[in-house]
Formats: sequence, C-alpha cells, structure tokens
Amino acid sequence: MLTYLDNNATTRIAPEVLAAMRPFLEDRFFNPSSAYECARGPADAIRQARRTVAAALGGVAPDEVLFTSCATESLNAAIFGAVRANPARRHLVTSAVEHPAVLEVCRDLARDGLEVDFLPVDRAGRLDPRAVVRAVRPDTLLVALMHANNETGVVFPIADLARLTKEIDPSVLFLTDATQTMGKLPLDLTGELAAVDLFAFSGHKLHAPKGVGALFVRRGARVRPFLIGGHQESGRRAGTENVAAIVALGAAVERAQRTRDADEIRIRGLRDRLEAGLLASLPCVEVNGAGAERLPNTLNLSVHFIEGEGMLFELNRAGICASSGSACTSGSLEPSHVLRAMQIPFTAVHGSIRFSFSRDNTDADVDRVLAAFPEIVRGLRRLSPYWDPAHDRPRPEAEPMMRG
Ligand code: PLP
Repeated sequence: MLTYLDNNATTRIAPEVLAAMRPFLEDRFFNPSSAYECARGPADAIRQARRTVAAALGGVAPDEVLFTSCATESLNAAIFGAVRANPARRHLVTSAVEHPAVLEVCRDLARDGLEVDFLPVDRAGRLDPRAVVRAVRPDTLLVALMHANNETGVVFPIADLARLTKEIDPSVLFLTDATQTMGKLPLDLTGELAAVDLFAFSGHKLHAPKGVGALFVRRGARVRPFLIGGHQESGRRAGTENVAAIVALGAAVERAQRTRDADEIRIRGLRDRLEAGLLASLPCVEVNGAGAERLPNTLNLSVHFIEGEGMLFELNRAGICASSGSACTSGSLEPSHVLRAMQIPFTAVHGSIRFSFSRDNTDADVDRVLAAFPEIVRGLRRLSPYWDPAHDRPRPEAEPMMRG
C-alpha cells in the first residue's frame, strides 16, 4: 500500500476526469480544426472546457483563457510575451521564492539587459507589500508574484499586491502563478483579483493529466504570442490542441469547483493532525512558514540534525512518498532557494521535508506517517554526531546550529 503525500508535485488523475478525456484519445481523435462534421465534437469540447475554466475564474470571458501545455509554458508565454509587446519598458519585479518557471525566465531576461528586482521574504516566507510598492518604477513592465508557494504553501496576498501595483501605475502588467492555488482556493478574476492581468496554472496539480495548462490574459493586456504558427487559440498560441487533455482540464476544474469547500475542510484537518502529531512526538522540529497564511494541504518541516535524503529514503521504504528541499533530493546542487530566501539555517534546509495532501488522502495516510516517521527520525538522529540519543536532544555544543 502506498501513502502518497507529494501532491504539490503532481496529483492522480481523477476517475471522472479520465472518463471525460478518454473518447478524445479513441473514437473522437479528430483534429478540431478540420472541416468535416466529425471534427466538430472535439472543437465543441474545447469550447465547453474554455467556458468551464472561464466560469471557475469568476466569470471571465472565455476568449481570455488560452490552453497551453503546462504552467511553465503559461508563465514563459506571459513573461516573454509581455516583454516583446512593451519594448520601451525594461524593469521587472518578482520575488526570490518563485518557481524556476518564473525565476529562471527573469534571470534569462536579466542576462539580456533587463533589470529585475527579486524581492526578499521574511523568516515565515511572507512578502512585505511595501517592498512591492517601493520596487515599481516608471519603466516597470511587469510584476510577477506567485499566489502560493509550492514548497511551503505560504500564500501571498495577491489581491492586495495587484491592487497596490495598479494604484501606482495601471499600465504595469501583473502576473500571478496560481499553479498551487487553482482548485484549492476560491479565485475570482472579476472580483477580488480584478487587478490581475495574467494568471497561470497547470492541470496535473488538480487531478487532470500532465501536459495541459492554461493562461488567463485579460482583454487589453499587451502580450505578444509566444508559440507562433497555426491559427489555434485565436492565433495567440499555435499548435494543434491537446483535445483530450483540455477536456480533462475542464472536467478537473469543474470537479474542483463542486467539491472545493468540503475538500478544503477535510484536507486541512488531515494536515493539521499530522502537523500536531509530529510536533508532539519529535523535538527540534519546526514548521517552515509557521505564522504565515498557508495552503491547507501543505506541511513543510525542518527536522534538525538529519538530512532530507535519509528521511526520504526511509519513508520510501515504508511506502510513503514525500519530498525534500535538501540539495541531493531536489535534482540540483543547491538546496531549496525558497527556504534559503527565508533565512532558514543551512542545516535546517538540508533537513527539510514536505508532505502535501490532496482529496485522495485519508486518515489512514496520516496514521501511517505518524506511526513511521518519528521512528525514522530517531533512527537517523542516532547516527548524527550532534545528537544525544540517551536524552533525545541535541548535544549542547550543537544547539547553536539550529539558529544558523
Ligand atoms: N509554478 C509552481 C508554483 C509550481 O508548483 C509548478 C510545478 O511544480 C510550476 C509552476 C510548473 O508547473 P509545470 O511543471 O506543470 O509546468
């Protein structure tokens, strides 16, 4: 039996989503641009999915929604498209904790000579709205800030940040990466989020398949097309549509709309029980992002004096999937840039572990982690020269390491 607690990485396709997409991989395989009668079904299905997504975003116009291949493409399209459409403006504002799909694009543009401010966050992962106000200049083109952080679940007050940006200069474009909030939080681009111009997300974080995403582009926002070729998506994103995946995205969004409130309460309950149980049974463990508003499904812990890699290895042996911000496990040579930006001590970043829930999780998953994880941590700490296993606490000379 597998306990899957890595839902911020990806989620399982929901059965009804799979059922909705399946016909478009089988009998209804036609190219939606073709002229014959049977291609009309796929074209209508895309139209319906677009209406569903537009409605879920607070009733935006369907033609403000573009389908893409993933959030990374949506974010690249938004940023590069904005830069190409507004060549007179050369300054971007973002944060130090964005996903690489934003950070690396901004770094790439900085290499081309654009100026980028990477705003810092505090120890809880919060962004000071005054820093955004201070950063916006007459030549600012775009402010790109994520809605919720994928590693810590910390939520930025995007509605306020977008409003403040527009109060300084209504012509500055505001982009938000909503990859971790779509389907989890209510999102109203005609109400609370009316100052957001560009809004990106991926299907596979909300129980649709990988390979589909969307970008909302508010009418009037100056953004040049990113993929150029055919006339698909009204000429704003060329390439034959991934019909089945787009249908799946529509079905997943519709399902999330229907069940989100009930899911949120249940998921928060599971996450809170895990958090309280682990904090009660293990000393020298801290919640990263504590004190900030956090997504209800995410728990990021620093377990002092051990490595994330060891924890993941042992969890994996116990049939539990989680993730870590330690360097060896994150696929890069550097440990989590998010936790480092939060000024979390190096050793605590290496000992970070993230459990992320979805509606597929149950109390049994929490019970399994509570049964397995404290023992795993005790076992690994016994191997640490900094830990005193007899008293289950750090050796006195090691205590300053926790403060960095
Ligand atoms: N933005 C955030 C906040 C994410 O969590 C992710 C994926 O983890 C992405 C962007 C990129 O999504 P994708 O890999 O689907 O393009």
